[in-house]
Amino acid sequence: MSTYVFEPGAVPAVPVLGSSQRFPVSRVFCVGRNYEAHAREMGVSTREPPFFFTKFPSTVVPSGSRLRYPPGTKDYHYEGELVVAIGASGFEVPAARATDIIFGYATGLDMTRRDLQFAARDKGRPWDTGKNFEQSAPITAIRPLASGGALERGRIELKVNGTVRQTADIADMIWNVPEIIEHLSKLYTLAAGDLIYTGTPAGVGAVVAGDRVEVSIEGLPTLEVTIEGR
Ligand code: MN
Repeated sequence: MSTYVFEPGAVPAVPVLGSSQRFPVSRVFCVGRNYEAHAREMGVSTREPPFFFTKFPSTVVPSGSRLRYPPGTKDYHYEGELVVAIGASGFEVPAARATDIIFGYATGLDMTRRDLQFAARDKGRPWDTGKNFEQSAPITAIRPLASGGALERGRIELKVNGTVRQTADIADMIWNVPEIIEHLSKLYTLAAGDLIYTGTPAGVGAVVAGDRVEVSIEGLPTLEVTIEGR
């Protein structure tokens, strides 16, 4: 007899550049409002301690995916982001030691049902339905830290149908990657398999069926997805 009452699904996993092995995803953490101009466009003041929300590992989908327009929203937004992949466990990791637990970096999208997120925010409710839904965490292959070193700066750009909508530099983040790891690892024991979406620059906006979204970060693979009708 099978151990389980039904067969469990496959482990969500992300390709690794230069390897035939894949990175199995354990947890997905996301940083809110990590670029000043984006915090302003969301109508909030900045330089507060970083805050976090989470997505199910099953929300991770590869570059090239066709994203079905999600239910329950009329304001489906893109957020282009640098993603950090964690490769070792760490609790209370000081920023100066953060690269010790980094496996690598990838280009990602934190897809958002903005209307549901704002309705929740305005009532002081959790963001889950606005942020954590099927196909909401597209990601490219991971570029290992070991091939190219720590990523501290570099242009990040997002295009919709070829038109630039977001542009910034990774160095513009309010909390840089080592600082994010320092803060997050005070709240969780980070572990191999964790992904951290590090926040989006200004210029977020809505997409509709038929749109093609492309996110590029200097030194990393380019992410590309297409939006489909339901
Ligand atoms: Mn985001």
